[in-house]
Amino acid sequence: MQKAENNNGVDARHELLRRLPGVDAMLEAAAADPELAAVPGSVLKACVRQVLDGIRTRILKTGESPSEQSLSRSSIFEAVKDAVKSAMAYNLVHVINATGVVVHTNLGRSLLGSYALEHLVAAASGYSNLEFDLETGRRGSRYEIVEDIICEISGAEAAMVVNNNAGAVLLCLDTVAKNREVIVSRGELVEIGGSFRIPDVMARSGAVLKEVGTTNRTHFRDYQSAVSENTGLLLKVHTSNYGIVGFTASVALRELVQLGADSGLPVMEDLGSGTFVDFSRYGLIKEPTVQESVAAGADLITFSGDKLLGGPQAGVIVGSKNLMDRIKKNPLTRALRIDKLTLAALESTLRAYRDEPTALEKIPTLYMLTCPVEHIKEKADRLEKSLSVIRDHRLKHRVIDSVSRAGGGSLPLQDLPTRCIAMSVDGISVSRLDQFLRRYRPAVVGRIEADEYIMDLRTVLADEIDMIARAVNQLLCEV
Ligand SMILES: *Cc1c(COP(=O)(O)O)cnc(C)c1O
Repeated sequence: MQKAENNNGVDARHELLRRLPGVDAMLEAAAADPELAAVPGSVLKACVRQVLDGIRTRILKTGESPSEQSLSRSSIFEAVKDAVKSAMAYNLVHVINATGVVVHTNLGRSLLGSYALEHLVAAASGYSNLEFDLETGRRGSRYEIVEDIICEISGAEAAMVVNNNAGAVLLCLDTVAKNREVIVSRGELVEIGGSFRIPDVMARSGAVLKEVGTTNRTHFRDYQSAVSENTGLLLKVHTSNYGIVGFTASVALRELVQLGADSGLPVMEDLGSGTFVDFSRYGLIKEPTVQESVAAGADLITFSGDKLLGGPQAGVIVGSKNLMDRIKKNPLTRALRIDKLTLAALESTLRAYRDEPTALEKIPTLYMLTCPVEHIKEKADRLEKSLSVIRDHRLKHRVIDSVSRAGGGSLPLQDLPTRCIAMSVDGISVSRLDQFLRRYRPAVVGRIEADEYIMDLRTVLADEIDMIARAVNQLLCEV
């Protein structure tokens, strides 16, 4: 009896399998569909196989029999279309940053302004003088393209750019302090997101870390007594992503420069989130500027291109000509070299700094950091209005006061007053809401606070407001 039933089950399953359309039949149907005309054959075939294999596995393994309707040719074809859509979509997609974190490393840090994009597109779509001197007709250097402008803004003698700041630090240590001791304060042995740790980078460069002082207090005499014939460099690291508060002491760059001069040692500062703008002039907490570090006399200063500078990913090194000449000859430079698209975007970003009001207006990172709260409120009111139009009694939303963060390891103690939309949907958990918006395209990333979904308008661009409203509308249609 038992056996007969099993046999019946097996027969039924085989009957279902027999009725499934074949790969060729599906491909034929696809060829006739104009929506799929541009899809490469290999992708189409893989998607058809994926869908048919999925159905076969369901029939054979789970024992459940799929409904007649889900096995119909048209519903299988719809499943193939969905699979093609997801196979053809880019993996790198537009995300609406509603977190309020301006330099959000996981969401791509800084946005480029339109002026930077124009230069980037021109450099990408045509040949350029990347490494060709148009005056002499001889080989040129890509590093010279932005050296003048960096020196002009920072006051430094020489400059060069590499792929990112981690690379800049590595290159400087490798050039100046290989197999020598580098003196660093214990309070400055930072770790930056993405596992960049000063001690690890130092180990990689072949420099030997010599920690001085304690976590909260390091004095001039600590550096002084650590200097020996093995010392190669005095290093100061800007503790850009945290603040040590309370009973603290650190040695100013100027004093280290004095010690360097007295003991014949170069002094380097890793500024991390290097800025050319003094944020205290705009009501924010003071961050040391690149110009101040140059004026203090550091021999080498390194910083990121895409943190407070607001440009593309890059590492900038400024300093003395003689050290820079040695750095430029280091073979590691070739491995860390900046590409032409980055160079184009960096050149135009840097040029915006010639006039500070222009920089604050045109560089999105600077604009978002210094934007008056009234402008953010206007955007919040606009989103509130677009959400009100949806008219679904389950949707609750209101404008709230909150604070945003600079992010990217910059201005760590700075509260930036902002306006947000706090939103909830009756019958849907806040984590479900968050997941839906993340999976929507364009994706929306906000934050969850006390069981409410919060969207900070500081980092939302004007033309993204209606996109958010459409995403919320879609959510309400689907649940
Ligand atoms: C961010 C940071 C780095 C690394 O810079 P990337 O451009 O991300 O490579 C190095 N040092 C400090 C102090 C930083 O803040």
